[in-house]
Amino acid sequence: MLITEIFHSIQGEGPLTGIPMLFIRTNRCNLRCRWCDTVYSFDGGKEYDLEDLIDLVKNSWERWVCLTGGEPLLQRDSQDLVEAVNHLGKGVLIETGGSLDIEPYTKFEHSVIDMDIKTPSSGETSKMKMDNLKLLRKEDYAKLVISNEEDFLFLEDIYRNWGDRINLIVQPAWGISNEWIVNRVIERKMNVRFMLQEHKYIWGEKRGV
Ligand code: SF4
Repeated sequence: MLITEIFHSIQGEGPLTGIPMLFIRTNRCNLRCRWCDTVYSFDGGKEYDLEDLIDLVKNSWERWVCLTGGEPLLQRDSQDLVEAVNHLGKGVLIETGGSLDIEPYTKFEHSVIDMDIKTPSSGETSKMKMDNLKLLRKEDYAKLVISNEEDFLFLEDIYRNWGDRINLIVQPAWGISNEWIVNRVIERKMNVRFMLQEHKYIWGEKRGV
């Protein structure tokens, strides 16, 4: 597998926030979100044998692995890795950009899928595979990053169509007013979950945390 970096940290986003995880960040992404904070995963990377990655997980102290990117679903061995991690008795959080088919990953019991729905400010909304939303399980969630009013209206549209069937997480783009977004959520009576990127509040915009 082509890997950008492997590191130990706590999960900073979504319902598993605060849980220690071994982060495996794959290399390459098929999207180019305008506000991407991991552009260093677009090229370069180091090739790892699947067996070596499984050994790393086996010897790690964390109960969870975060398979992130880049776009981890682009890697041929990602499914085998998730399966192997589950066999080790550990959970896997799979973070995907939302443009590729998640169906093969829904069969893993001890896994959570964090699927982005790219908002208009990303410039990549048209690439979303919206059929994926039908596949999300009760433990999975879809995350929308909000930068401006157009993004918020897009979120509201997703909420009106999907809000009673899937878990929706609303996250401000870094630097955007948290208060503005929360006020809008309350004003529009939306049962979505507002969450921050905790790791950036701890370490700032640093790589490998
Ligand atoms: S999907 Fe993620 S890694 Fe890819 S461009 Fe968008 S934010 Fe960056």
